Parts: sequence; structure tokens; C-alpha cells
Amino acid sequence: MERKAFPERGLDADVVLDEMENRRDSDTDWRNGRTWNLVYHPDDDIKDFRERAHEKYASENALGPSAFPSLRRFENEVVAMTADLLGGDNKTVGNITSGGTESILLAVKTARDWAQENLDIGHPEIIAPETVHPAFAKAAHYFGMDLTTVSTTSDWRADPEAMVNAITDETALMVGSAPSYPHGVIDPIEEIAAAANERGLLCHVDACIGGFVLPFLPDIGYSIPDFDLSLPGVSSLSVDPHKYGYTAKGASVILYRDDLLRQEQYFAYDGWPGGVYVAPNMTGTRPGGPIASAWAVLNHIGKEGYRDYTQTVMETTEQLQQGIEAIDMLKVVSDPDMCIFAFESTSDEVNIYSVHEELTKRDWTLSRQQRPPNIHLSVMPSHARIVDEFLTDLIDSTNAARNKQPEHETALYGGGGALSPNTDLESAAIEMLNQVYHLK
Ligand SMILES: *Cc1c(COP(=O)(O)O)cnc(C)c1O
Repeated sequence: MERKAFPERGLDADVVLDEMENRRDSDTDWRNGRTWNLVYHPDDDIKDFRERAHEKYASENALGPSAFPSLRRFENEVVAMTADLLGGDNKTVGNITSGGTESILLAVKTARDWAQENLDIGHPEIIAPETVHPAFAKAAHYFGMDLTTVSTTSDWRADPEAMVNAITDETALMVGSAPSYPHGVIDPIEEIAAAANERGLLCHVDACIGGFVLPFLPDIGYSIPDFDLSLPGVSSLSVDPHKYGYTAKGASVILYRDDLLRQEQYFAYDGWPGGVYVAPNMTGTRPGGPIASAWAVLNHIGKEGYRDYTQTVMETTEQLQQGIEAIDMLKVVSDPDMCIFAFESTSDEVNIYSVHEELTKRDWTLSRQQRPPNIHLSVMPSHARIVDEFLTDLIDSTNAARNKQPEHETALYGGGGALSPNTDLESAAIEMLNQVYHLK
């Protein structure tokens, strides 16, 4: 069934649902652990539970908290639970957003407005390590700000000294990740936050991917540096239930040290014939499903459950890393702090992008990264049972990739800086978007 025109007569419900199942067959098989990004799959029980909770609220709209006090309660409790987990105190406030990107957009917009008001800066700047998520570049672009990205130290962690040297009269916000997505290492947040604090600047911690893993590591014997709101100087923090919180897609949390700062996030407009319009975040209609699912899953798994999942992913990560290091021509990049990491080639004979192509042929879904050229893995509990299968395929793929150039274009992984929101999006970027998304 290829539908282009709007059907004159509605199709039978079963026909539509069957067609959805058919189409899904061509998607990546994340349910069976073939996928190392995009979907955070713990196990079938939690998957079913999060979907049931989502379904209960699939029609509700959190834009109207007085019509849906239940959603307001879910949101406030999810904010309180994540604040409890991440070093907040009784002054900590926050909101649920549609995802990590929206949380970051809000943190940056809040910093801009705060700095314009409190520091009298006309054109506020952000300073972040080069490894910071592109959502900060997006935010700077959307909100008319400058993002200065600073080189990391050789272990791919932020270099606080270099960040301090990049501070100007216009700097409003300093950023660190816990951990960074590309290499899975935690930036020295304590130093970054202290430097910001000393100068009266704001400091955001991007714990989007780490926020539901890192707090449990000390309990199971791993030591990690402090990274959360308990550090003086950390003024906001983002964390995504829809990643390692294992909740339905569409839920992130943005936390602020206090209400005074969070006020800068709000939007209010009374010039509309439709009445006064206020919104705490960026969206209008706010789907109830992700909020309800976040509340349900956090309560259902509990700290004990997250600790167990953390143990599973850390053990699985260690097995994978040992297996990768045992392959002559491969090695793990830097010294990852949790269950996301990257591996690179150590041999001139092996192009890592060719290894990626071989793995893709063997039905694995992984992402390629550019500095250094590498393959990225986010390890989930559902991967525990496919470690051997993956490592066997990785050995085969590495051998098959020997002395072979990648078949597909990798020019876009050159990091030449041709793609930036500030350049005219003429050719390369538009071509890439069309290619990746098959935009019609
Ligand atoms: C995933 C991620 C984001 C962005 O979150 P989305 O939910 O994809 O918008 C930001 N920062 C880090 C470190 C992430 O891993």
C-alpha cells in the first residue's frame, strides 16, 4: 500500500494497523538488541509498562493544568524525584519538556534573558567544550547568541582552564556534560561550575544521557566525580527520562537551582484576542502521554530497579570493551565513565567506517562519529544477552573491512566546519538533510 492522496473514504482500522506492522518490518530491530542508539530498551516488561502508561494519557494535554490537575501532579512529582536524585534541594524547581533538546534550548534562553537583565549583557555568549551536544549550537542559533566551543584535553574531557581563558565580557553561561555523548566521559564539572560561580556567571550541566545512570554508580563500586546540583555554581541541569530513565519518548527534565532563575524561562502574552497565553516551556500543546509515562516508570522501577539496570549495563559494557580491546586493530576511545562509549581503529589497514558498513550488513544499527573516526555504542540492559553475537560479528566485520575503503560517502564526517548554522545552508547541508530524511 503506497498512499499519496488523502483517502476519500476512511480505511478499515485493521487494514491501517496491519499496514503499520508491515512498514515497521523495515525498521531497525531494537527489541532484540540490534540497535545501539535511538531507543533505550531495558526489557519487554518495562517497554510494555511504559507504553500502557503512555496510552492512558495519549489524548490529554498538559497545556491546561487546571483541566488536568493529574498531569500537573505527575510533572511536579517527576521534577521532585529527579531533583532528589541529582543533588537538588527544597529550592530546586523545573519542568518536563519534550526532550533533551528542548531542555537545553530552555536553559540557554533562560541564561540569555537572565544575563541581559542581571549582567546587562547585550549579546550573551555560551562557552562549552567542543564535545557538547549540538543542541547548544542550535540554541545559540535560535536565540541570537554566540557559542564558543573550546578544545578538550587529550582524554576528550573539557579543559576548564581553556574555558576560563575563553571568557569575555559577554559570557553568560558555561556548560559541561555528564557525560558527553560522543566519548562518554564526564567533564570536570566542579571546576567549570566554580569558575562560573566566581565570576557570577551561570553553569549548565548536560546530564541528559547520564542522569539516570551516574547517581547509581557509587552504590555499585564505581567512583565518579561530582557533577550535579549539589555542586556550588551549578545553576541548571538537564536529564532525560526518555533515555536511561527508560520512559516513553518525549520526556526530559530541566532543573534550576531556584525559582528566580526559572522565571526567565516563562512566556506570557496578553495581546491575543484569544486571551492571556502563558507557557512555561517552548511548546503549545503538551502531550500527556510522555509525562504520565515518565511518572509511572520512575515510580515503578524505583532507585533499586535503576541500580540493578545500572549494574547490568556496566557489566555488559565491560564485557564489550574487553572484547573490543582484544581485537588487534581496534581500541576504546579515552576512558569512558559509564555505559556509552566509542571505539576506533588502530591500524592503517582498517578504516573504521568500513567496519561500520560491514556491521550494518550484518543488521546492526550503530552511529559513526568523526573525532576521532569511530563507532559509538549506548549499552542498554537489552544488550546483555547479545554480547557474544556482537563481538563475533565485530571480529568478522573488522577482518572483512581490511584494506577496504568505505563504499558510501564519508566526506560529511570530515569535520571541516562547512556545516554550521551560521553559514548559508546552500548545498552540502541541504543535500545531507534531503539524503538522510528523504524529505518530500
Ligand atoms: C540525547 C542528548 C541530548 C539531546 O536530547 P534529545 O532528547 O535527543 O533532544 C543532549 N545532550 C546529551 C548529552 C544527549 O545525550
